[in-house]
Amino acid sequence: MSILSSSEITCHCGEVFEADLWTAVSISENPELKDIITSGMFNVVECPKCKHLFYHEIFFIYQDISSELIAYVYPKDYEKQAKYYRKQMLDEFKEIVKSMKEAKDINFEPVLFFGIEDLTETLKNEDFLNDEIQIAEFISKRIGLNLIEIKHSKARNLCIPHLIPQIKKSSGNNIKDIIAGLEKLLSYNENLMEYEKFLVRIKQNPSCLDEILMHKSKK
Ligand SMILES: [Zn+2]
Repeated sequence: MSILSSSEITCHCGEVFEADLWTAVSISENPELKDIITSGMFNVVECPKCKHLFYHEIFFIYQDISSELIAYVYPKDYEKQAKYYRKQMLDEFKEIVKSMKEAKDINFEPVLFFGIEDLTETLKNEDFLNDEIQIAEFISKRIGLNLIEIKHSKARNLCIPHLIPQIKKSSGNNIKDIIAGLEKLLSYNENLMEYEKFLVRIKQNPSCLDEILMHKSKK
């Protein structure tokens, strides 16, 4: 659920005024808020006296269940007590999940951020990655590669695309099939930088795939 709350704000000119600020953001309810966050206009207020426009930092929860992202975004200053806030987040999260109608879909951990910049960067990187994944999916289907889907939250933690190509005719070795799938995909489009990085990574350390494949999506 998205929530707007009235807050008392003090401008650098000394003026004190009230404004509505988001304290909870649900992307399924308000998809437009994602662009507002990445464009830097989220929780921006205008001082009625000096007309100064500024971001007012306040704690908020960001929820995008379909992307498996729930972020607790604390003010930057709170980072000094990161341990305390991590515990608070995990305790509170358990309670919140119980009360949510999407509870059954929430089988992932929340993410902790200090300052909105970390969330903004995550969302921008993800948009970039999703564009690449869409292209990879399109090509894979056309050239007959299988696609393995990894849980979005795990793929995010591991910094990899959540769709991984694999050749259809199996050699009996998962890792070899995935490497062959990635090589075939990249031979059709060499601009898929994230897939290229992923290929380099698993060639250097093939065993990292074992952990990745543990998180296959059941969808
Ligand atoms: Zn002012």
